[in-house]
Amino acid sequence: MKENKIISVKNLVKNYGDFQAVKGISFDVFEGEIFGLLGPNGAGKTTTLEIIETLRDKTSGEIMVDGFDVDKYPSAIKQRIGVQLQAAGYYPNLNLTELIELFCGLYGIDVKPMEMLDKVSLRDKARAKYKELSGGQKQRFSIATTLINNPRIVFLDEPTTGLDPQARRNLWDLITTIRNNGTTVVITTHYMDEAEVLCDRVALVDNGKVVVIDTPNNMIDELVNSGFERKKEVKKATLEDVFIQLTGKAWRE
Ligand code: ATP
Repeated sequence: MKENKIISVKNLVKNYGDFQAVKGISFDVFEGEIFGLLGPNGAGKTTTLEIIETLRDKTSGEIMVDGFDVDKYPSAIKQRIGVQLQAAGYYPNLNLTELIELFCGLYGIDVKPMEMLDKVSLRDKARAKYKELSGGQKQRFSIATTLINNPRIVFLDEPTTGLDPQARRNLWDLITTIRNNGTTVVITTHYMDEAEVLCDRVALVDNGKVVVIDTPNNMIDELVNSGFERKKEVKKATLEDVFIQLTGKAWRE
């Protein structure tokens, strides 16, 4: 079966004054996958994402999102995507129900706030204010807001940075569920383990360039086949696995 390209990025360049943050990046995202942009701070992940989201101008290159050219049809693209807002975007004194109603008003869409909160296991926080949520709950809430317009693609920019292991794994489950329900997910992260577990395919980005694009498995297999060996024997579990095994990962952060 031929995979359907839902995003295509060709030779993307972004200059900030004299500084070239993105140096000719190309990649495709297939419909129904979790695609990761993986790289260190300053690699150009956020810049690339914001250009695809039509929130930032590019210097040059061609980008198509769900069949629409970013240069010609930015509003059609905006209707089809969900973008995770940074925390500053939320009114601190509204509760979660009121915030979702506000977004519905902005989109001109009628959804039941409780249904959205159920998707991210926050029903019991319906009357809480955004500022009263924990880090993991805030991330889950912001993911709920990306789903309000029933998007074809959601973009998550480092959604698990700063979270504890339980909250991170809860978010991985949530993101997988969103994908399994038919939404394509594009995520940035600098956590290698996260990309390995969560992403169907990954583009490794460094210094404004794509170094390699493949499935995590293929990348690792290729390295091993090339004769690479780790210095120390790898254990079958990590300390994080021990912690999760002993404490569980209930929604309690
Ligand atoms: P992080 O993981 O830290 O978010 P990133 O991979 O998302 O990193 P970007 O935020 O895209 O990286 O930044 C890429 C480079 O562009 C960095 O060197 C950054 O300092 C620079 N940059 C980003 N935004 C601007 C801007 N508005 N003006 C000038 N330089 C910028």
